[in-house]
Amino acid sequence: MAFELIPLPYDSEALASAISAETLGFHHGKHHQAYIDKTNAAIAGTDLAEANLETVIARARGSDDEELFNNAAQAWNHGFYWHSLTPEHKQPGGELAARIDRAFGSLDGLKKRLAERGASHFASGWVWLAEKRGKLTIEETHDGDTLADSDSRPLLTIDLWEHAYYLDHRNRRPDYLKAVIDEHLDWAFAAQNLARAATWKYPTPAYAA
Ligand code: MN
Repeated sequence: MAFELIPLPYDSEALASAISAETLGFHHGKHHQAYIDKTNAAIAGTDLAEANLETVIARARGSDDEELFNNAAQAWNHGFYWHSLTPEHKQPGGELAARIDRAFGSLDGLKKRLAERGASHFASGWVWLAEKRGKLTIEETHDGDTLADSDSRPLLTIDLWEHAYYLDHRNRRPDYLKAVIDEHLDWAFAAQNLARAATWKYPTPAYAA
């Protein structure tokens, strides 16, 4: 079963206050597509050819096939990232809002920490809002690494690779982070991830159980 690139869940112009259509065109159409294609090429004809993406990631992590791990994990991370973003300005509610207040004091407290951790992350990687052992936390993974197969439940992620922001914000990663965090995080996707029985699986639609 070859993996397919999930369609962007919004128009490519829709996040333009933070991320341009040009960036999304390259990021989704070229970078994410390449991770999918390389994963498919690596598993074709192997015993992983029919596996789901989470299984490919977990098996590759434990092997010495670093290239397969990186491509499969990046294929997953980008699917999760597209769903973490939304053109609508949303606010967390209910259980999620209460859990944010408990862990970070307030939504503004979480936003501030997320921006700080994303800005200070060295080189390429990802910053995540996650649930770990019953508590909301911020985590970072380096390069292609992922929380897909970890004991943390990812709720939202932001791509920190330069290809995510350089066309729009050049070297100003904090500006990209502020624009995304203030206007474009999909708190409904985060709430759905908190409510799911297990971590989101590629390519599940954002709000499916
Ligand atoms: Mn990326």
